[in-house]
Amino acid sequence: MHEFGIAEAILAAVETRANGRRVRRARVHAGALLRITEPAINHAFTLVADGSLAEGAQVDLVIVPIRLVCRSCDRTATSVDPFITCPGCGGTDIDTEGGDDLVLESIQTAEATHVPGDSRRDRGNPGGPS
Ligand SMILES: [Zn+2]
Repeated sequence: MHEFGIAEAILAAVETRANGRRVRRARVHAGALLRITEPAINHAFTLVADGSLAEGAQVDLVIVPIRLVCRSCDRTATSVDPFITCPGCGGTDIDTEGGDDLVLESIQTAEATHVPGDSRRDRGNPGGPS
């Protein structure tokens, strides 16, 4: 259920950015500590976005690595795995920085790509009955 809170946060950001336009795609940077996957977040987003401007939109997820600092040997590293041990000494006494961010990088709106209705195909038919 963790994904739903995140999906709702993404939706709120998307709707603010969309400013009334229909949304096709949203590109989101998520820290590795959030431990979300693209299929899971898309599943949750589909449900929370139902009936909104972002209904049916695809979420492109970019996992942002965590920065690690080992308290034992001061080694720094980055990882997308939140359960890492120190690559220097194998220790688990590690400080992490970042990794819990959730940032909406960009959205793609549906504007000007599809204009429904207004059929005019019944005109310009030479040779037809008059
Ligand atoms: Zn270490």
